[in-house]
Amino acid sequence: MTYIDVINEQAAELTALLLQNLREALFSSRAYLRPSDLQQVADTQTRVFLAAIVRRDAEEAQRHGAYLCTVGVGEQVVLGLNRTLQRFGLQHLAGEALHDFLERADEHQRHVVEGYIAQSTAQILEEQERIRSALQQNLQRYTLQLETAAELARTAISTLELGSLLTSAVDLISARFGLDYVAIYLLDEDDRYAELRAATGMGGRIRQAARHKLRANSGNSVGKCLASRQHILLVLRNDEHSLPSASWLEDTRAEMVLPLITHGRVIGALSAQSTRPAAFSSQDVIGFQIMCDQLANAIENARLYADAQRRAEDLAHAYDQLKELETLKDQFMQNISHELRTPLTMIRGYAEFMLGGQLGDVDDSQRDALQVILRNSEALSEMVTDILAMLELSATKTALTALSMREAVQDSVIGFQIVAAANGIALDADLASGGGACLVMARPNHLRRIIDNLLGNALKFTPSGGQVHVRLWEREQRVYLEVSDTGIGIPVHFQERIFDRFFQVDSSQRRTRGGAGLGLALVRELVQSYGGSVSAVSPGVDLGSTFTVTLPRVTL
Ligand code: ADP
Repeated sequence: MTYIDVINEQAAELTALLLQNLREALFSSRAYLRPSDLQQVADTQTRVFLAAIVRRDAEEAQRHGAYLCTVGVGEQVVLGLNRTLQRFGLQHLAGEALHDFLERADEHQRHVVEGYIAQSTAQILEEQERIRSALQQNLQRYTLQLETAAELARTAISTLELGSLLTSAVDLISARFGLDYVAIYLLDEDDRYAELRAATGMGGRIRQAARHKLRANSGNSVGKCLASRQHILLVLRNDEHSLPSASWLEDTRAEMVLPLITHGRVIGALSAQSTRPAAFSSQDVIGFQIMCDQLANAIENARLYADAQRRAEDLAHAYDQLKELETLKDQFMQNISHELRTPLTMIRGYAEFMLGGQLGDVDDSQRDALQVILRNSEALSEMVTDILAMLELSATKTALTALSMREAVQDSVIGFQIVAAANGIALDADLASGGGACLVMARPNHLRRIIDNLLGNALKFTPSGGQVHVRLWEREQRVYLEVSDTGIGIPVHFQERIFDRFFQVDSSQRRTRGGAGLGLALVRELVQSYGGSVSAVSPGVDLGSTFTVTLPRVTL
């Protein structure tokens, strides 16, 4: 059920309730007897009543008199009779003695009494009609108020912008009830001032544009309403020229100010003014307050919406700035990395040159120093390669191709055999011996980077005498690569963090083993960009590690 359905349903329920109450008021009470019924009752019963009196049939007179009293006619008739008798100076005849009087009354006297009864009956009928039409008018007004409340709710749904919502509201209320001026004041943030936010007519619009403000605790009608949270009803007295505190409109003769309350908090007030003194009745307050409650909720919603929109705009702006910064940073990193490559190659080349003795003899301490230079420049160039690969990842737009993971792993294992042998580590591989190319969609250099980084780490973190084992297989729609070693292992609480950029379990190893903590971050980013995942498992320190990569398998 939508918000508008709920509002409509509430409005329908309220209308039905009011109708019911009015109907009951009209027909159940003797004071509101329907005129046609009353006419009949008055005519027949008063005739019978009078006849019984004339006949001196006390019992019947009493019965019909009592009946007339229950339907609201008898009292008037009996009272009228008494008054008439008084006019004849026969008040002592009232009550029981009436019988005797009528018995002895002459034609003229009886005529006067009967005439009185007819006249009072007509007056009662007239009064009844007046009450009925007043109630009818009230009912119409209530219905109109409720309809307007529902319409306000509908407007609120289609108008989320606060300014247009308030303007539509004042225009609608003034048009529907023929009011001369309707204005909405809203309190500012610290509730000190109430600002005119919408008003009807040219004058109203001008004051609104001038941002007319009132002190929230001022003594005028709006201030009083805000302070008391109650409606204020003002009607110009005959001896007054204008309402004392109401309005800048000189012709205003009646003003009704109602609080706008939402979630128990007063957020402003609505002032309605008319040049007719009888424009508002105290009953109007109920209907107008229902309208104002709808309006207050709508204002709250519009404000929330504006807030959300503002926040969304701020976020979008911040996001744009961030993206711009990110691009700048990538550009900077790329430039620096490229610039570093050439000098690094030169440093490594000369260090190797010197170590090889081509530039003259080197003693042991010089050799150690040169080895440090070589190791560090190698680590630096590895890092530059990883950075460039990572930057490439976000910039690469080239299409993916189906590649055999088996071939890629095979090539890599062959390449690393020399390193393994040099470090006294046994490196062996079990590559999908059951057949199957283990095809994945990727870019060749990326795939190679994933495998090389895992294999390189396994060899780097396994001491001499250890083993590195590579396994590759496919199952259902996935390809699995597992690189396990018998090396230094990874403490359990670091097994997730090692995939973060620049994270190293032991940063002091940077000096001994090289590396910058970027390899695994790159592996994870690459693998994820291909819809795969990577995980590390190690039973603990010195107990070896196993890294597993899975990638979606493709079939040609
Ligand atoms: P780097 O090797 O350059 O330090 P990586 O991102 O490749 O950076 O690895 C991050 C950290 O994870 C390493 O510094 C190391 O502490 C740990 N690590 C990676 N592979 C292994 C492994 N096979 N055995 C033990 N620790 C490892």
